[in-house]
Amino acid sequence: MKWNVWGHSLEETEQFLQEGGFPRFRAKQLHDYLYKRFVYDFAAMTQFPTAMREWLTKHAVIEKPEVIRKQQSSDGDTTKLLLRLSDGSLIETVCMHHDYGNSICVSTQVGCAMGCIFCASTRQGMERNLLPGEMLAQVYAFRMLYDIPVHSIVLMGSGEPLRNYDNVLKFLHLCHNADCLNLSYRSMTLSTCGIVPAIYDLAKEGLPITLAISLHAPNDTIRNRILPASRRYPIGTLIDAAVHYFNVTGRRVTFEYILIQGINAELAHAEELCRLVGPLACHFNLIPINGTEHIQFYPPSRQQTERFAKILEKHGKSVTVRRQMGDEIQAACGQLKRRYLNDQTKHS
Ligand code: SAH
Repeated sequence: MKWNVWGHSLEETEQFLQEGGFPRFRAKQLHDYLYKRFVYDFAAMTQFPTAMREWLTKHAVIEKPEVIRKQQSSDGDTTKLLLRLSDGSLIETVCMHHDYGNSICVSTQVGCAMGCIFCASTRQGMERNLLPGEMLAQVYAFRMLYDIPVHSIVLMGSGEPLRNYDNVLKFLHLCHNADCLNLSYRSMTLSTCGIVPAIYDLAKEGLPITLAISLHAPNDTIRNRILPASRRYPIGTLIDAAVHYFNVTGRRVTFEYILIQGINAELAHAEELCRLVGPLACHFNLIPINGTEHIQFYPPSRQQTERFAKILEKHGKSVTVRRQMGDEIQAACGQLKRRYLNDQTKHS
């Protein structure tokens, strides 16, 4: 079988080229072609001797996911792509265009096993983990096809990144690598539903990655109801892990909190939330729930959201309310894929 040269560390590429008897510096040149110059045809890599180009054509491929749908919000601020992987799996990736730059929201798994009841990605369960190259290709889909400079990366697409730990870490290293995207770890955010032991592992890596925790509730009763995977990790142990992450990395933790009317959006919940996290230096990202065509959940009113935010601020927390970017283009996890699959079934 041919080796896919896309999405490997420099050391891995060096090792592969050594099999053909080529010197190490050729690996860096190959990475330049792939990640800087967007050359995806061995025959066009004219810096290489003919024999090397022929050897590559015989032993290697450049296999990257193919873009099959593109959607743009009417204000142009959000672009979403549906990609088909080599095994036919479908994944989504989103680019959010902010004033300060572009942020790419990357999927880490095909589907998701976590079962959060508000999330479309998990409806069909988990199919498989994504490889580092498949995550990297999501970023390059924007960078190369649409000439979009990438400023930051958020692992908030489909999947639970801490359940695909090794591949996710390899991907983040690739993004950091000067021969690849050259992004600082500080511009990368990993969002997790709270796999407590893996948060401790991540802290040990010693990387200044921002940790975002999908908290979504001020207590175990509500959390277990909407986020079934949380039953294994009581909310107190999750907060302890967040405190540990902050102590070890010095990085302020972000708590994501989806606001769902009638479930977790009362002002008493905001007070309870402040008691729960205590003095921890943290940031709250409040997300009025969006686009849930599969479940009858609704966001609270704007005033209610503002009142909720004020309570957190009164307790010294920094708070942002996420703009509902991309709702009209099904930007919440897994929604474009579900829509596409429904269309396919209707037409077949
Ligand atoms: N598994 C990881 C990352 C993927 S989900 C995690 O749980 O954090 C990324 C974020 O999108 C999470 O905060 C998730 O709760 C949120 N999300 C999922 N469905 C949503 C919806 N319908 N409306 C708003 N946010 C949603």
